[in-house]
Amino acid sequence: MRPDVDLGLFADVPDSRRRIMRAIRGKETLPERCVRSVLHKAGYRFRKNVTGLAGRPDIAFSARRKLVFVHGCFWHAHAGCRNAAIPRTRATYWGAKLARNVERDRENMIALEAIGWAAEVVWECELSNIDVVLARLKAFIGPVSVSKAKKKNQESDG
Ligand SMILES: [Zn+2]
Repeated sequence: MRPDVDLGLFADVPDSRRRIMRAIRGKETLPERCVRSVLHKAGYRFRKNVTGLAGRPDIAFSARRKLVFVHGCFWHAHAGCRNAAIPRTRATYWGAKLARNVERDRENMIALEAIGWAAEVVWECELSNIDVVLARLKAFIGPVSVSKAKKKNQESDG
C-alpha cells in the first residue's frame, strides 16, 4: 500500500467524526439546514433552535405562533417509514429508546399547543421532494408578511 494513500484515508477520519458528533448533538443537521434554506429563499424570516420552548423547535415564527420541527426518521421513529427500522442488534434497547423519543415528541406537541403554538413536522425522508414540503409549509405558515414583500420590491427598484 502506498503511504500517501494511507495518509489520505486517515486524514479524513477526524472530520467525518466531527460531522457525526455534531449531528448527534443535534445543533445543526443537514435536513434542518435544507428546510431553513428553502424557507429563507421563499422570503420567510424566523428564529432557530428556540431553547425556551418544549422540544427546542428547529424553526419558529414567533409573531405567528407557528413552529416547524424537522425530524430524523430514525430518531423520531417515523411510522411506516423504511428509514425508521429498528436495528436487529439490541432491538429491545432501541425499541424502548425510540418509543421514549416518540412519547417525548408527543408530550412536547401537547405542551406547545397548550400555550398557543401550532407545530408542523417535516420528516427527513420527505426532503427528497422539497417542493412538496415547501408548498405544505407555506400553507401552514401563511404568506410572507406584506411589509417584507414590499421592502423587497423597494430594494429591487432602487
Ligand atoms: Zn421517514
